[in-house]
Amino acid sequence: MDTFRIDGKALSSTLRDGFKRHVEAADITPGLAVILVGDDPASHVYVRNKIKGCEAVGIRSSETKLPEDTSYEDIASVIMTLNNNSRVHGILLQLPLPQHLASVQESLVQMIAPEKDVDGLTTTNAGKLFLGIDDGLVPCTPQGSLHLIKSVQKDLSGLNAVVLGRSNLFGKPMAQLLLQENCTVTMAHSKTQNIEDVCRQADILVAAVGRPKMVKGDWIKPGAIVIDVGINRLDNGKLCGDVDFEAAQGIAGAITPVPGGVGPMTITCLLQNTIKASGAITL
Ligand code: NAP
Repeated sequence: MDTFRIDGKALSSTLRDGFKRHVEAADITPGLAVILVGDDPASHVYVRNKIKGCEAVGIRSSETKLPEDTSYEDIASVIMTLNNNSRVHGILLQLPLPQHLASVQESLVQMIAPEKDVDGLTTTNAGKLFLGIDDGLVPCTPQGSLHLIKSVQKDLSGLNAVVLGRSNLFGKPMAQLLLQENCTVTMAHSKTQNIEDVCRQADILVAAVGRPKMVKGDWIKPGAIVIDVGINRLDNGKLCGDVDFEAAQGIAGAITPVPGGVGPMTITCLLQNTIKASGAITL
């Protein structure tokens, strides 16, 4: 069997072209405000890419850079100011925050006004997703992963979906989205027994565990759609996913590469959420 490579860059580019046209035609300019605390190099790269993505589709963006030792109160004050700024439609607090703020990170995320929570992490947006109320903002990476799945198969009704990983950021919202698509959803995690057998039942297998090449070729049901969310850096400096991409060839029906699969779609869905939050168009 030939394994189809799902090209996240190409799908992103098509979607972004559409966003650009909508933003140009809208009578409002969507605005995204990013808050970046500290010096984590990876976070700086992510934020730069998000800002570039905004510029490319005509979203106005601003960046508030705060030093590593910024206090909880100071970050809270920035969030409140942005909540009250009518030119800002989306607020993104780049995570993770520096270590000294780890215990208050959740509390800061929850301060973001739900209608501006373009990461979809507030309890209001998580609750809307859980209840199937579709005017909420859905976390970007699961949303992007669903786009990728539907780019190869539109109707997912009745399919067995297995999500590896149960984080609030990815696994849980991904499972909800697949449930809404009428999949039969299994969530697997570090305590799951016979995880290989669980994976072999999956028509759709989504891996988000952060363990390089954990999913072997013989864990994959022939013909399955495999979405690899993991981003792991190997000793040789190269990136790889949670799935053994080479071993999946000839077994999976379709698979996303790392890099070039889910990654580009995450930023694309951030742009989509910002446009949705601005009310410029209904997406
Ligand atoms: P996380 O919060 O660390 O969660 C990891 C999940 O994997 C947990 O639920 C954990 O189970 C499970 N897990 C760990 N080891 C396992 C094992 N041996 N067998 C089965 N399950 C196991 O991570 P995350 O934020 O969801 O991210 C996961 C991966 O996706 C990371 O590589 C991250 O870099 C990547 N990611 C990529 C994007 C993107 O844009 N492409 C966005 C977000 C995340 P327990 O709950 O039992 O501990």
